[in-house]
Amino acid sequence: MKKHIQRACEAGLKSLAVAGIAVILPAGSAVAGKVTDDDIINDASTPGDVVSYGLGPQGQRYSSLKTINAGNVSKLVPAFSYSFGGEKQRGQEAQPLVHDGKIFVTASYSRIYAIDSKTGEEIWQYDHRLPEGILPCCDVVNRGAALYDDLVIFGTLDAQIVALNQDTGEVVWKEKIDNFKDGYSFTAAPLIVKGKVITGVSGGEFGVIGRVEARDALTGKLVWIRPTVEGHMGTLNGKDNGISGTTNATWPGDLWKTGGAATWAGGTYDPEVDLIFYGTGNPAPWNSHLRPGDNLYSTSTVAIDPDTGKIKWHYQFTPNDAWDYDGVNETVAFNAGGKKLAGHADRNGFFYVLDRTNGKLENAFPFVNQIDWAKGIDLKTGRPIETGVRPGDPSTSTDGKKGEQIFVAPSFLGGKNWMPMAYSQDTGLFYVPANEWGMDLWNEPVTYKKGAAYLGAGFTIKPLNKDYIGALRAFDPKTGKKVWEYKNPAPLWGGVLATAGNLVFTGTPEGYLKAFDAKTGKELWKFQTGSGVVGNPITWMEDGEQYIAVPSGWGGAVPLWGGDVASAVKYLNQGGSLWVFKLGS
Ligand code: CA
Ligand code: CA
Repeated sequence: MKKHIQRACEAGLKSLAVAGIAVILPAGSAVAGKVTDDDIINDASTPGDVVSYGLGPQGQRYSSLKTINAGNVSKLVPAFSYSFGGEKQRGQEAQPLVHDGKIFVTASYSRIYAIDSKTGEEIWQYDHRLPEGILPCCDVVNRGAALYDDLVIFGTLDAQIVALNQDTGEVVWKEKIDNFKDGYSFTAAPLIVKGKVITGVSGGEFGVIGRVEARDALTGKLVWIRPTVEGHMGTLNGKDNGISGTTNATWPGDLWKTGGAATWAGGTYDPEVDLIFYGTGNPAPWNSHLRPGDNLYSTSTVAIDPDTGKIKWHYQFTPNDAWDYDGVNETVAFNAGGKKLAGHADRNGFFYVLDRTNGKLENAFPFVNQIDWAKGIDLKTGRPIETGVRPGDPSTSTDGKKGEQIFVAPSFLGGKNWMPMAYSQDTGLFYVPANEWGMDLWNEPVTYKKGAAYLGAGFTIKPLNKDYIGALRAFDPKTGKKVWEYKNPAPLWGGVLATAGNLVFTGTPEGYLKAFDAKTGKELWKFQTGSGVVGNPITWMEDGEQYIAVPSGWGGAVPLWGGDVASAVKYLNQGGSLWVFKLGS
């Protein structure tokens, strides 16, 4: 094992030299040994490894590597494929990590693997023992792990967080986030900030209380909790640390006690402003007539002080959400025009550019073709200009059981769902995996019951166009101009990667990993992986060779909740594997 690590260390250093990138290696860090805070902050500029979700905590998903480029990507061939095994497969939505000659990748049903990054041989596998009765709303997915020190840390469907030794896969610590029987689960990749592991919760469809938590990454000991529903008390080192917002200011009665705003898609961190950006889901229940008010901090980005767990600013995308437009989508730091900005492509169909120092809205524009619920975003107030397309109130309907049904786009699966976009530092463009679909939607009466679905709504998702649903689109965040688009028959559900090789990679449910010209959108390469690609591609350099890796395995929310769209893509087969590519000779 020692020899193996030594080899990986040399390989990593060499690959940095080959990439021609000047890297100042902080003591005891860089491409070998224990993963430090500096390694994570500098992840984007050290292409010899990938030690964070998002290829850097800012979440740009941009690599400076260009050994593989638009001129030679057609020669990309498989280096190896690794099977996750098991008779139960389902959606593979993970982003792999690479460090010290090992690939760490999570899979459906709360499994994680360490694989030799050169040969594809398994080093260890850990299957988390899941109890009966877990309540994941939207498939049994896992989106990735975090690395810190000699640990690899991931969350589980029964709402636990587990830290394993990177070399052996042995459990070092394990903590319970919350009670899975109450609807809590965990599917996102944890985020590491200043020695703390930052996590959220899934379960907005069960009336859980969304929150962001920080633990000591080495021990699992809780440091702070910040609830994302107004009225709930936060804590710091076991002591009360102020409630979030002002009780009942934006929530009526007792509804805030089961208010949702689940933090299910993970967060980003920008060291320049020293803030954690976390997205929050829908307010619960879906029936908005029961909760007049803005329902803070649902469908928002909250900017949290990593040291205290206090909310420094928030921006709400969909006040009094009536359409399940979770605002969990990633908030990605970028600098332009001398400003510290952040990009966010929301489930509600609008792309937002925020000043990330204070949350002020700088720009907003549609990134899908049809948005029925709002005409636009008022740049002065930062609020949506609503059209009034909301489902009717069931309590005033003739039978008191079903309110007026509406058709609205986007559907609740969103103009964009969880799958992260990429930002290229070369082109200055955001590459957004979008979907064009709408839904029939109506409201019903509902009362809260612990561990039961808490919606008060019915729905059927429908495509808007005959020939495509998915669309990968390149946007200029300054002008809102769509520079190019690639249309895909099935809905896009995988993450995006941009590289300095003038390339953009993403997967399709039809089974392909595809590469596009970053400037023109021309499709340059594709490879059929055998099942739908709904995971996140990464790239790194090792022994002078640039690699691309992506998980394959169709699943996620579309087959479960996609209505007419789910029927149309029923033929797609499940799978579970990791594919790794390099240039052929
Ligand atoms: Ca790196
Ligand atoms: Ca939701």
